[in-house]
Order: sequence, then structure tokens, then C-alpha cells
Amino acid sequence: MIIMKTDATKEQIEQVVKEIKRYGLRADVSRGAYKTVIGLIGDERKIPFDHFAVLPGVKEVMRIEIPYKLISREYGKFFEGVSEGMVIKVGNVRIGGDEPVFIAGPCAVESKEQLFKIAEGVKTAGAHILRGGIFKPRSSVHSFQGLGAGGWEAAEEALSWLSEAGKKFELPVITEVRGETQVDLVAEYVDILQIGARNMYDQDLLTRVSNKGKPILFKRHFGAGIEEFLSFAEYIAAEGNKNIILCERGIIPIGKGKSYTRYTLDLGAVPAIQKETYLPVMVDPSHGTGRRDLIFSMSCAAIAAGASGLMIEMHYNPAEALVDGPQAITPEELKEVISACQRIHQLVAPRRTEN
Ligand code: PEP
Ligand code: MN
Repeated sequence: MIIMKTDATKEQIEQVVKEIKRYGLRADVSRGAYKTVIGLIGDERKIPFDHFAVLPGVKEVMRIEIPYKLISREYGKFFEGVSEGMVIKVGNVRIGGDEPVFIAGPCAVESKEQLFKIAEGVKTAGAHILRGGIFKPRSSVHSFQGLGAGGWEAAEEALSWLSEAGKKFELPVITEVRGETQVDLVAEYVDILQIGARNMYDQDLLTRVSNKGKPILFKRHFGAGIEEFLSFAEYIAAEGNKNIILCERGIIPIGKGKSYTRYTLDLGAVPAIQKETYLPVMVDPSHGTGRRDLIFSMSCAAIAAGASGLMIEMHYNPAEALVDGPQAITPEELKEVISACQRIHQLVAPRRTEN
């Protein structure tokens, strides 16, 4: 990381960036209120630290020894307004701001009627963002794959319902983009692009998605450690897009665990990740437990752990849902979850800012 002098000129900054490129590296330029910092991206062996230290306008060259430098608190403390954590704005919603944010909706969009009925429930329950899967990652090829599997026209139609429902109920919308070929189409219709747990490791997909410049909800793979999770989020940041919302959604249970909960929701990861990065961290208790009767408890626990919000699957009649019915809650239950979480947030928020 190169810290420029407070009085460094535009030309001096440009000169440093030019030098970085000359060495086959990329530059992440962040202009703060008082100074500019430049993060170096690429093969560290190529960095001639001494050379950069003597360039005009350079105050200091610092080595950050962590694999996820660009999203680290150490780096973020140099950007304007980010020292307490980054706030990601989506329409009128502020993720990582003073209030927890709730994303809710069906696991999969099944029809226009189903989506609009659920969207109305999402709004009435007091949630802020509407979700709905169109390209579904499924364990079996013999199950419903989402409307996106019906071809581009079917996918576009479902995406247009999502966007229409969002406008009607004044809710930003999010859906998963499962592969590189889907990125352009999905980005035309949604406010947030979701990278599913199974695709956490897909570097090429991460690059493509980052380039859209839209906020990204990035889910942790169920087998990934925290360092690995953050290191792959770094791939998104390295492409120039730091609007990343991290999402803990459960890791593989040990022993007979799987017969009790679908995954093990790793809530310790929430404050642990927050110590490392300025990015907001959300929690998905739906996939994290796989059980409707555990959503209330684990939602409360996630907010108590300091999560910036939750993503919850909701259906007016969970028994009818084609995907993930057993973990979907009703609009009434969602309302109770949100109300309890908001009260818990009131209690824990002051404690968090003191840390
Ligand atoms: C989802 O949120 O629709 C989903 C499939 O979740 P995950 O990628 O965490 O399994
Ligand atoms: Mn689901």
C-alpha cells in the first residue's frame, strides 16, 4: 500500500499509477478526505518497494501481510467514512448502516402471481429487499431448477417480474447469478447480484460480476474457512468494486449434525469477520438451519452477534413451495422476526460502537 503525501498532486498520483502498471501490477486508488492511498494488486514478488518509496509525492510504502488487503480494516481506515465500516447504499436502503436490513422472499420465483403475493408480504412484514431465485443451484438435476432453466426468454420474463414487483412495492431486488453467461442479463434487472455458496470459488464469475459495478451479496461456501472466504471476496474488490455484502449461510455440520440442521450456522464468524474487514456481514438463517422452527432463534442470535442484516426465505404457504419449503417462514412469522431483531439491535448496537 502506498500512502501519498497530503499535498501530492494529481500528476504525482498518476505517475505512481503509471509506475505500478510498468511493473505489471494493478492499482487501487482511494482518494480520502486528506490523502490518497494506492493499493497494489498482483504478484507481490514483482513489487520494488524501495523504488516506490522515493517517487515524488509518496509519503510511505506499507506492506500489508494479509491476503485480503483491499477489504481489510487496515486499508479501509484510510478511506473517507469507512473506518467504522462501509455502508452500501441500494436505493433508500443502507446496508451496514445504523439499522439491520432484512432481505426476504421465496427461495425460487415460481410464477408472477406467487412472486407478487410474496412481495406484498415482504413489504407488509417490514423487510427492505426482495429476493427470489431464478437460476437455482440444485443438488439434483431431476429437481426444479428455477424458471431460468427454461431458456433465456423464460429467464428474462421472470427477471422482469422481479424488477416489476420491486418497483410496485418499493423494494430493491436481488437474485443469484450462477454462471458467467447470466451476468449481463441479470444485471439489467436487479439491484444486487448474489453469488451463491457453491460459486464462492469461481474467480472468473467473480470478475465478471464485479465489473457490473453493482452491489454483490457474496455467500460463504459451506466448506470455506474465514480466510478463504475473505480472500475470494478480495477478487471482487481487486476488480474495482468494493460494494460487497458478505453473507454467512452455514458450514458443513459434523457427525450426525446434518440430521438436525441442514448446515451449522457459524455465528462466531460474524464478529470475527467484522474485526478483519470494513464490509457489512449479513446472515442467512434459512439455509443455515434448513428449519422453519429455528429461524426465529437464529435470526435473533445473528443480530445479537452484530450482523448487519438477514436474508430469510418466506412463502405465504411454505408447504406449496417447489424449493426449500421446510425452511420458509410465513409473512406473519417474518414480521415477528423483524420486530424481535430490531429490539435486539437496539441493545447491542451501542456496545458494538464502543469496541
Ligand atoms: C439461495 O440463497 O438461494 C441459495 C441457494 O443459497 P446458498 O448459495 O447459500 O446455498
Ligand atoms: Mn433456498
